[in-house]
Amino acid sequence: MKTIGLIGGMSWESTITYYEILNKEVVKNLGGLHSSKILMYNVDFAELEAKMSVDDWDGIAEILTDVSVRLEKGGADFIVIATNTMHKVVPEIEKAINIPILHIADATASVVKRDGIKKVGLLGTKFTMTQDFIMDRLLSAGLEVIIPDTKDIEKVNDVIFKELCLGNVLDSSRKEYQRIIDDMKAKGAEGVILGCTEIGMLIHEADSSLKTYDTTIIHAKEAAKLALA
Ligand code: GLU
Repeated sequence: MKTIGLIGGMSWESTITYYEILNKEVVKNLGGLHSSKILMYNVDFAELEAKMSVDDWDGIAEILTDVSVRLEKGGADFIVIATNTMHKVVPEIEKAINIPILHIADATASVVKRDGIKKVGLLGTKFTMTQDFIMDRLLSAGLEVIIPDTKDIEKVNDVIFKELCLGNVLDSSRKEYQRIIDDMKAKGAEGVILGCTEIGMLIHEADSSLKTYDTTIIHAKEAAKLALA
């Protein structure tokens, strides 16, 4: 079994889900007392969020590159960044390490495509929804991607940082997300990517009028598969 270099803490709420799935998938495959070989570095998210809020992506790249180098030196065979948004700095990290990064958007695109879906909605932080680091990978996989309008992008983003990352799951926000998913359905989306690792705390399959693609579950399962390959 390969050792997974897991960068967690962004937020720690969603890292719990990664940890659980990684271990459960190994048990499912190997049974008994088996568990996942993980080297985890849990960052202090407040330091990263402070940099994100002033668009200091060089500062973020520096922290996450340092963490990735440490994980590689510690014996990790590949890196899993347990957040969509921080994939923005993947190109910088890749320059500094010799092990691969399992990209969250590639794993997600292949599952969406496997279901025969062509047009998909994307929910996530405002960075994920409006910039190219996730979007380009989905588009180059041949998917058509719909995002919410400007006002709803702010709403979706606020719920992530002001509620879900703090562990607060509110019915009123679930209703807002449901309305936004309904809007994307009306615009022709056949499924919705929960492109932020905390959204699964708020929206489950049964809450959504569209089939959901939870990036946390997809990414963690793919990581377990790679570790066992
Ligand atoms: N976990 C979130 C994501 O998947 C947001 C937190 C972050 O900015 O890393 O994008």
